[in-house]
Amino acid sequence: MLDPTSRAQALARRFNNVLTALGSLDDRKETLTPATAALLAQVQDAVEATRQAFEERWNNLAAVDPAVRDRLRTNLCDQVLRVLAEVAQTLLPALDGTTSQGIPVELDPILTRLAHRADPTNPAVILSSAPGFQYSVQRVAAPIQMATSVTGKTVSTTAGLSTFLFLRLPKIERDSALLHVILAGHELGHVRDWATQTSQNLVPPPLVLSTGAARAEDIVTHKNLISFWAREIVADIFAAFIFGPASLLSFTELVLTVGTLSGDSFTHPGPNRRIEIILGVLRQLDYFDNQEARALLSDLEKATAGAAATPVVVQQFSGQEIPQAAWDWLSSQVPSLIAQCQSALAPDEILDAGKWQEIEAAASQLSRGRPFGELVTGSGDASGDISVIPVPEPIILNAGWLVRMRGYEGLAKIVDLDPRDTKQSADLAAILDGLLLKSLEISDWRLNNAWGK
Ligand SMILES: [Zn+2]
Repeated sequence: MLDPTSRAQALARRFNNVLTALGSLDDRKETLTPATAALLAQVQDAVEATRQAFEERWNNLAAVDPAVRDRLRTNLCDQVLRVLAEVAQTLLPALDGTTSQGIPVELDPILTRLAHRADPTNPAVILSSAPGFQYSVQRVAAPIQMATSVTGKTVSTTAGLSTFLFLRLPKIERDSALLHVILAGHELGHVRDWATQTSQNLVPPPLVLSTGAARAEDIVTHKNLISFWAREIVADIFAAFIFGPASLLSFTELVLTVGTLSGDSFTHPGPNRRIEIILGVLRQLDYFDNQEARALLSDLEKATAGAAATPVVVQQFSGQEIPQAAWDWLSSQVPSLIAQCQSALAPDEILDAGKWQEIEAAASQLSRGRPFGELVTGSGDASGDISVIPVPEPIILNAGWLVRMRGYEGLAKIVDLDPRDTKQSADLAAILDGLLLKSLEISDWRLNNAWGK
């Protein structure tokens, strides 16, 4: 099992399996987006180059003194294994999740455009679905570069060499447009954070413990907690500025689907703490001065009031002094983080309560069962100064949440379903999600096809 020959035999089998899996993806090439096709081509090139280099180097080592040969061959197997692990654990699942049964394909161009606004280096965006109730984002260097560790030289590929951005959504929620605000808001908020280095620029203070001097590992833990938690908070803040109340409502719905509002973890501060911070941003955007908007937020405001001051409890720690110190300092930095995020955004990217009328107008169209992706402006009189413009995504998605939070009122009547009936309310939710996806698609089409041009 452990001798290099036995390991090489196992690797040969792994190579075949990986190449077969990639080959079956290749069979449906026509259905792949250009970014996914580029990713697939690069992974295939990288695996093929790695396999060739492996065989060549393995055979070349036949001539080496047996005393060192086994050690060199073992090292070679280790290098190859790392490449195959990256393919099997990250790249293949992402590629597997790109089938149209798993992703809302109409959102692909929209999310790509929003991602490029968040990251001006224009990474290739791969929208992918995964099992479980999780949204995530991951930046992956051009996969072709992995082969270099085994081949020792740059491997050429026909595909472009850009960085890839994997945006993952839960497969079973494929059509849940309301929930996907998380992807466009919080997950792309992470991308904004990477681009602006907002959380990375935080400089944690020295750790002072009641028991005396902190040990080296305590200092690392303290720093890591601040770093992990700050990333989530910054992503939340960006999402709140760009998507307003919808960012909060989608986040809360996801949290309540998988757990409860309270509870800190090593990577995430408790949802109640995060909600309180998001509400702070929404207050700054004047949503609490608007009675209608406030009605959407008041129960969350009550449920999370004072969350920042509640004691931190991270399960895997026996004593809570270090996480508490991390949180105390980080929460003191929140006003500054909010100010930094705001100044990193263009004014037209911020959705303040001044847009409420537009949200209400869009909601009233959705309530009538009509998609609302474009807007007629101008008087339309003899002067002919009429124009049709796309409705921005944040307006559409907030309008959807408004219809939902108001119990699908008008929509329920039109389609003759009772929102108080659980089964029928699920049908209503699906109808609303359908209207939203259609609205987003129309908006995107109008954006790329200017009126009268
Ligand atoms: Zn996150």
